Amino acid sequence: MCYNVYMIVLERVTKRYGKADETPALDNVDLNINPREMVVIVGSSGSGKSTLLKMITREELPDEGKITVGGIDYDTLAKKHIPHLRRRIGVVFQDFKLLPDRTVYENVAFALEIAGHTNAETQNIVPRVLDLVGLLDKMNKLPAQLSGGEKQRVAIARSVARQPRILIADEPTGNLDNKNTWEIVDLVKKINDLGTTVLFTTHNLEIVHRLNARTVRIEDGKIVADVPRGKVVK
Ligand code: ADP
Repeated sequence: MCYNVYMIVLERVTKRYGKADETPALDNVDLNINPREMVVIVGSSGSGKSTLLKMITREELPDEGKITVGGIDYDTLAKKHIPHLRRRIGVVFQDFKLLPDRTVYENVAFALEIAGHTNAETQNIVPRVLDLVGLLDKMNKLPAQLSGGEKQRVAIARSVARQPRILIADEPTGNLDNKNTWEIVDLVKKINDLGTTVLFTTHNLEIVHRLNARTVRIEDGKIVADVPRGKVVK
């Protein structure tokens, strides 16, 4: 698979969780995201941000429309290839989802083991990603011994260890104080600069300004604004 075709394309995607006559969670959405692009997705609670992300990770299927990610047409994707697709997409959440009884090192190593990496590869990769997120000195700590920002950095290390083409950060700063928020925002920017496509959802306009990226606004399941990088988002 060629790196530069790693686009995300949604064409007229509609998703309904309820009956056909209810307002859809996503309503006829068209969206193209280029490889290495950073896109911030904003919108109030219930507007459809998570549903949009779930279309891309294939956690949910659309009722109508077409989704292609990295040249893979989701309509024809065989079940056995879904794990391969998921390895190409890293996801971090507001609530970190770390394994509480494993150390920082083990949390990252475990993700690599399930993805089929050898012990030698794991031993090589884990220190490098912990260095990237600034947590080498905490590798033997348990999650409970870390601050919220540090936990999120472990979650990011775990996601990027598998070198995904796309990183989805779903409100990654939702549980963090200001200082930790900016650290995570800057880390995600760095990961984007290293070549990973990033989708970042947030409610926080200050974060939108700091990220200075293309910003897509969703309201009632529809894309109502798509503001290019460098333009002020209001
Ligand atoms: P956001 O991430 O912007 O808060 P969501 O994508 O979670 O928005 O939700 C969009 C709409 O879909 C909301 O009306 C929400 O209640 C509904 N919804 C989301 N997930 C489900 C689900 N699993 N079952 C039923 N309705 C859902």
